[in-house]
Amino acid sequence: MKVNFYTSLREYSERKEEFNKAIFDVVESGSFILGPKVTELEEQIKAYTGAKHAIGVASGTDALVIASHILGFTDGKEVITSPFTFLASTSCIAKHNAKPVFVDIDEETFEINTNKIEEKITPNTAGIVPIHLFSQMNNMDRIMEVASKHNLRVLEDAAEAFGMRWHGKHSGTIGDMGIFSFFPTKTLGGYGDGGMIITNDDNLAQMTKMFRVHGASKKYHYDYIGYNSRLDSMQAAVLSVKLKYIDEAIKKRETVAKWYTDKLSDCEYIRFPKIKGDQSPVYYVFNLLAEKRDELADFLKENEIGYSIYYPIPLHMQKCFSYLGHKKGDFPVAEKISQEILALPIYPEITEKEVDFVCDTIKKFYRK
Ligand SMILES: *Cc1c(COP(=O)(O)O)cnc(C)c1O
Repeated sequence: MKVNFYTSLREYSERKEEFNKAIFDVVESGSFILGPKVTELEEQIKAYTGAKHAIGVASGTDALVIASHILGFTDGKEVITSPFTFLASTSCIAKHNAKPVFVDIDEETFEINTNKIEEKITPNTAGIVPIHLFSQMNNMDRIMEVASKHNLRVLEDAAEAFGMRWHGKHSGTIGDMGIFSFFPTKTLGGYGDGGMIITNDDNLAQMTKMFRVHGASKKYHYDYIGYNSRLDSMQAAVLSVKLKYIDEAIKKRETVAKWYTDKLSDCEYIRFPKIKGDQSPVYYVFNLLAEKRDELADFLKENEIGYSIYYPIPLHMQKCFSYLGHKKGDFPVAEKISQEILALPIYPEITEKEVDFVCDTIKKFYRK
């Protein structure tokens, strides 16, 4: 049995007519960049998340770069973040020459260890970028407490966190700004690239709207040197269809996660991350820690089971950040987890039969 790590095709075939209509309505409208479809999605995202403003941009990465720029993560300022994440969470800090300052991760959640943030703060620190990864949010109470004590800006990388809530508050709405990615595999994913910035601050929203159109306050009046980063109407139309069914999709992901946890609970070579704090997790990915991870991964591959490793090399050990002068051993928890972590296939349409096959294959590997 072949089990895809991810596929958009099952969802598409279930709602083919609805997706096709949404796409062709855009073609027939002749409006492709921003326009009514993007405004409609922005309104829907505001309603869903409770954010006061939502501004569509071209990708999650662009959203991070633009928000970092606006929040003043520039020119030698220091910004605290985790080394165990996707590149874009840190490259956005470095892009305008701010300095990424890493704090090692928590051993149980794999997210930034919030008890170690304060010791890294200097007079030069401008902000914190918490990343809500691995199905749960960071401890936002702690982060906001440290941020307000030291007058720091908080940019929530909620690229993977659509639908996640901390004390009932949607991801991205607690810090100064938050971003989503609509990359196809994400919980709310389009049929191409897309992203969004959300904020409750009127000024930050105003600047974001200018920054996505070259820094223009009105046509051909450029107040800032901005970007060309717009969400296109076709993606917005697809995303609006998906958003209608997002709660159902999130529920199904939760069911799949429970299948995995139950079926693998008797496997002593496997451990699961812990969900901490008063929050609603969303299983965008299903991660576990596995003994002999690389051999297990090879065995899954032989059996045509898709898997992924988030993330095989922590960012402090990436060539592009070598100028920061870190070495192996600087962030031991991130380094250790990067050797053990493995993500299994999860999406709303995966079947219990497929999950059974994945779990049986894992158990078979350890019995070898
Ligand atoms: C996917 C992702 C991004 C980048 O989003 P794109 O839309 O692919 O540019 C940023 N941060 C994290 C944590 C992500 O998972």
